[in-house]
Amino acid sequence: MKETIEGKARLCIPEGKISKQLPVFYNPVMEKNRTLMIELLRALGKKKLNIALPLAGSGIRGIRMLKELPASLIAHVSFNDYSEAAVAAIKKHLLINNVPKTKTTITCADANLFLIKSKGFDVIDIDPFGTPIPFLDEACKKISRGGVLGVTATDTALLCGTYPKACLRTYWAEPLHTPEMYEVGLRILIRKVQLIGAQYDKALLPLLSYSSDHYMRVVFLSEKGKSKADETLKLHGGYKGAGPLWLSQLQNKQIISKMRKNLFIDMLIAEPDIVGYTDLHSIDFKEQPKIKEVLAVLKRKGFIAERTHFLATAIKTNCPDVKAAIS
Ligand code: SAH
Repeated sequence: MKETIEGKARLCIPEGKISKQLPVFYNPVMEKNRTLMIELLRALGKKKLNIALPLAGSGIRGIRMLKELPASLIAHVSFNDYSEAAVAAIKKHLLINNVPKTKTTITCADANLFLIKSKGFDVIDIDPFGTPIPFLDEACKKISRGGVLGVTATDTALLCGTYPKACLRTYWAEPLHTPEMYEVGLRILIRKVQLIGAQYDKALLPLLSYSSDHYMRVVFLSEKGKSKADETLKLHGGYKGAGPLWLSQLQNKQIISKMRKNLFIDMLIAEPDIVGYTDLHSIDFKEQPKIKEVLAVLKRKGFIAERTHFLATAIKTNCPDVKAAIS
């Protein structure tokens, strides 16, 4: 066993390589994923949230929410995992972190069964190690009006076009396998969740979405209403032969600008709402220019031009021909 601290939580987890085989799953790489969810809930400022973690793993996400967010924000956190070892770990972690017992429940069930049996939640975080697909239906059914639905996908090989047939079959869209694959994959994921939401007359609008460290993450605000759901579907379409995918905003910038200062969030806020990006390494320049210089030249010429979190060598710009503009 190894002691770990993440945020304000203390964990005791078995040592070993990160894999589904570990008796209790804790992935330190996902710290950013958890921190951003907590900061987003803080920025939203909704009170008395009833939170569900159907795939709770070590319990770290819920424990951090309870320890790091103001007490008024959280009414209850329901931890669930189908693994008995995970449930035992959650119990232990709640104890060693002095989390108030009255605010938590722990169950050991299949995530879908747990959701079906529930009365619904204000926050549902679908954070599996793998594809979120099997859990989307119940999550969309059980998210409350004005609720927040988090979805993590680590099946990026599908979304980024390594297995295009599998992407078409499971996400109902054609991916790209070019430098733009990260954004295209994220937008395919968003549309798929929105389609499931629409089946239950729910409009799911992204509050925060990004791709990072071999995973994709979207946090939606759920609004009830047939016409609102219809409106979101109108914003699906194709892009460079890929799709259908979500063609509108990836972030609710008004909300995320209320999140705590953080370089990553600053980058998401600065990204213009343009679909796709230009990878400077894919342009055959005589001499590779520095990204800073390219941005400066494009801006001087009156174009929108910013870096993108999707790819360190790429820029988001409305300039139709970056090479010509630079030469
Ligand atoms: N959300 C966690 C990480 C979870 S890892 C975090 O933020 O750290 C995925 C977990 O889902 C594992 O603990 C695994 O036991 C559990 N799991 C996988 N499939 C499940 C299912 N169908 N129902 C319930 N739990 C499941």
